[in-house]
Amino acid sequence: MSRFGIALALLLAAVLIAPPALTATVEDIRVWRAPDHTRLVLDVSEPLKYSTLELDNPERIVVDMINTTLKSSTDVPLTNTPIKAIRTGVRAGRNLRLVLDLTEQVRLEVFTLSATEVSGDRLVIDLFDLEPKPRIIASQPDNDVKRDIVVAIDAGHGGEDPGALGPGNIQEKKVVFAIAQELRQLFANTPGFRPVMIRTGDYYVSLAGRRKLAREAQADIFISIHADAFTNPQANGASVFALSLRGASSTTAQYLAQRENAADLVGGVTIAGKDDVLASVLTDLSMTSTLDRSMQVGSSVLGEMKNVARLHKPKVEQAGFAVLKSPDIVSILVETGFISNPTEARRLANSQYRQKMANAIFTGVKDYFYSNPIAGTLVAWQKQQGGRTYTITKGDTLSGIAQRFKVSEEAIRSLNNIQGSRILVGQTLVIPRA
Ligand SMILES: [Zn+2]
Repeated sequence: MSRFGIALALLLAAVLIAPPALTATVEDIRVWRAPDHTRLVLDVSEPLKYSTLELDNPERIVVDMINTTLKSSTDVPLTNTPIKAIRTGVRAGRNLRLVLDLTEQVRLEVFTLSATEVSGDRLVIDLFDLEPKPRIIASQPDNDVKRDIVVAIDAGHGGEDPGALGPGNIQEKKVVFAIAQELRQLFANTPGFRPVMIRTGDYYVSLAGRRKLAREAQADIFISIHADAFTNPQANGASVFALSLRGASSTTAQYLAQRENAADLVGGVTIAGKDDVLASVLTDLSMTSTLDRSMQVGSSVLGEMKNVARLHKPKVEQAGFAVLKSPDIVSILVETGFISNPTEARRLANSQYRQKMANAIFTGVKDYFYSNPIAGTLVAWQKQQGGRTYTITKGDTLSGIAQRFKVSEEAIRSLNNIQGSRILVGQTLVIPRA
């Protein structure tokens, strides 16, 4: 057949087999509420074309999806969101119209996300609050020279991004949030430390957004908590990572950093979430000193973790994790285990194990700051006054501890900012000189 003949045959075949028009379907609708925005995610069968319209009086948003049909219920929980109701209709016989009736004005951002390992194609509708509720930021009075060390605790993933999935449908985002909450409680119980949760619920925060929140909270340290999957289900062990400005320290480290950096693709980065600091960060000289300290705190945490978990590697590993790229905040990423490993998934599902893991991270970080106190903090002042520390165990009383160290209860109370005689298991006290 001639070249022209082949082309003609192909054209005829295309005309004969082509469906009348491609039709996308909306298969599911999910909603996530974050402190400053509401995210509506539509799972669609294939990439679709859409247009949006914002109307007021009353406030509403219209999204028209070309050649699309609805296969999902629109009955989704709308509590705490500015959405009053979701209505749908068919336009021009083939387009799907989605109308969101709102209780207040919002800033709208609509974009599509391509299919990934864990999700299919999606249409994301973000409704940003016009007056964001003020976040509780760990700002401290200027006259207080004994400030707290601010610990930013970052539970990885969240919302649209479940993170890694383990056997029995265990989700990384849930496991790490539980560990983060345990860790928050431990720091909250410890005078001289102030925990700040980077995400406070089940919603996605971009990797750059996490660093920004840590900076806004004036964090002294940023701890990102994960429990990732590996291609080989045999892979096991906990690890601690710091940033690498060059290559990764192992192929596993490189693999995990790539996975983590892809979180924005799954979780959805909005137009405003573009990472502009990255390039300048890498040339910043302060990065080197921050990195040194990150390695030290990482070693301290790893030293504690070996008591509760098998370690993947006996030293702090390094790779180009985007979430760790704060030039001035000591940052580590803790992989609490491989959720893809059936034994570790079972452990991570157990609340006692999660508590032990949180305790190991807490002790490692706390010990680091007691050994390397930051000037102007309560911890630094306590070190000057006493130096010895004691961690409260079950059955301890303030009077018992005072007797044991031959100091007065009052001296312990004032050194540790304790009112009354209530002490908590796991709390670290600095013991004044006798
Ligand atoms: Zn992760």
